[in-house]
Amino acid sequence: MKKNILDYTKQELGEVLQPSFRAKQIYNWIYHKDAKSFDDMQNLPKEMRSKLKEAYTINPLQVIRKEASSDGSIKYLFQCEDGYTVETVLLPMKKEVKNEEGRVTKEAKYTICVSSQVGCKIGCAFCLTAKGGFKRDLSAGEIVAQVLNIKQDNNIAHNRRVNIVYMGMGEPLDNIENVTKAIQILNDIDGLAIGARRQTISTSGLSHQIEKLGKMNLGVLLAISLHAVDDALRDQLMPINKAYNIESVINAVKNFPIDQRKRVMFEYLVMKGLNDDIRSAKKLVKLLHGIKAKVNLIYFNPYPGSPFDRPDESDMIKLKEYLNAHGIICTIRQSKGLDISAACGQLKEKTANELH
Ligand code: SAH
Ligand code: SF4
Repeated sequence: MKKNILDYTKQELGEVLQPSFRAKQIYNWIYHKDAKSFDDMQNLPKEMRSKLKEAYTINPLQVIRKEASSDGSIKYLFQCEDGYTVETVLLPMKKEVKNEEGRVTKEAKYTICVSSQVGCKIGCAFCLTAKGGFKRDLSAGEIVAQVLNIKQDNNIAHNRRVNIVYMGMGEPLDNIENVTKAIQILNDIDGLAIGARRQTISTSGLSHQIEKLGKMNLGVLLAISLHAVDDALRDQLMPINKAYNIESVINAVKNFPIDQRKRVMFEYLVMKGLNDDIRSAKKLVKLLHGIKAKVNLIYFNPYPGSPFDRPDESDMIKLKEYLNAHGIICTIRQSKGLDISAACGQLKEKTANELH
């Protein structure tokens, strides 16, 4: 079987291809000039092009479904070479602004939410991805390809920086090797040049892996899916809490190296009648004491048969106001793309239901 060229860092490519400056040329072709085939790479010797063609593929993913939402977000379902499918979402964060002469005065801003695994082992009670079980890790190249395909499909210029969040399907720290490799490939100046500070890993809280990631000192940002402030409730919602309880997660965060200007994001998925009370907010304030944190409140997004309900807007606002009043930066995640079934795993599920 052919290898995927997107799996290679520039350095690795330089080691297998001689002379090594070819690696930089190939990176430029793939990431800057959108080459779709090795035949396009005109400054490579013909013989090298045909050898590359025999040994490598350029794109391991195929778009099999695409849904646009009224708020501008676009959700993709990609198929891997072995037939498994994963989701990726493009979230436009800010619209382009033009002046009277039609010149762009403010660039549009984008975030791409990528998947790290096919399925997930963690088994959170509220998550649709968990229902399908775990199939396999994505390779670094399959993670990079999600970003590359989406940038190309939306004509986002190669030098336009985007933000990456590892918040799609899967637990990124359960696939730490490939995820950190993808971060480095995406970071390459001859590639997409997406700085580590523009990339956020979201984790259900694998404390030992948070420590390991911290020691790698990549400069990547961290988001913690906390969702509950008591171990008893968190045990029920997220079985991983039995192995790594709230205290161990908080301690791991305290040891994590983070840029002075940045914060660790705590995601708090709010479910009606479960964790939407002020007592929980009070406890959250205590837990975050001494951490440069920000909190993102997320509306639970129901799906057919889901065991929880969407919280009331008034309770979300009360939570936000309480946290703000106690010195914690807090935002409510705008449910981007609710009409395209935006929460992770939901497009995949929909397609499966329609096909069977
Ligand atoms: N495994 C990692 C990253 C992927 S999950 C993690 O858990 O952090 C990304 C986010 O999707 C998590 O914060 C999770 O809480 C959220 N999510 C899962 N199911 C959801 C649902 N039904 N509604 C809203 N958000 C959901
Ligand atoms: Fe896995 Fe995250 Fe879903 Fe939990 S919320 S099952 S960790 S993808």
